[in-house]
Amino acid sequence: MKRALLLNSDYAPLHFVSDMDAIILFYKGRAEVVASLETGLPSEWDETFSSPSTSIRVPATMRLLKRINKRWKPPRFRKKVLFNRDGWRCQYCNTKLGWSTIEVEHVLPTSRGGQTSWLNCVAACKPCNSRKDNRTPEEAGMPLRKKPAYPSSLHFWDAMRSDSWHPDWDHYVPRD
Ligand SMILES: [Zn+2]
Repeated sequence: MKRALLLNSDYAPLHFVSDMDAIILFYKGRAEVVASLETGLPSEWDETFSSPSTSIRVPATMRLLKRINKRWKPPRFRKKVLFNRDGWRCQYCNTKLGWSTIEVEHVLPTSRGGQTSWLNCVAACKPCNSRKDNRTPEEAGMPLRKKPAYPSSLHFWDAMRSDSWHPDWDHYVPRD
């Protein structure tokens, strides 16, 4: 199943929607298919969605015609989303990691009151995690590559790491 990147009316990325939801948004007149900045053609997948009455290309990038204001609240902590946020790289030595080598590292150690939270956790490799031990990055002399932040809704999507990435999305979403 292909997905579509949904942009707000000002082209700020909101989140991904299923191919079905993208088509419904289109037919309800709530969103338009964006033109590719490369080709000027509609940003679509090669695949076609067919029903008895219609056949259209599956949209890849859509824009809401009416701006929505999203009330923001911090999402619940999830390991996999944390790893997506950190690009599956150790935040101390920058090594690219996979499920067998990646660990959640507490910036302020749990033994010293550190919480398991978006702002206190980073992805790390096992050697860095054990080297840092019960110390802060400052004490260990191991600076973080970037300050931990809340994930964006885009970090919740698995295809951040898969092949089904549409090239038009590069204009709107940084790809780790
Ligand atoms: Zn490391």
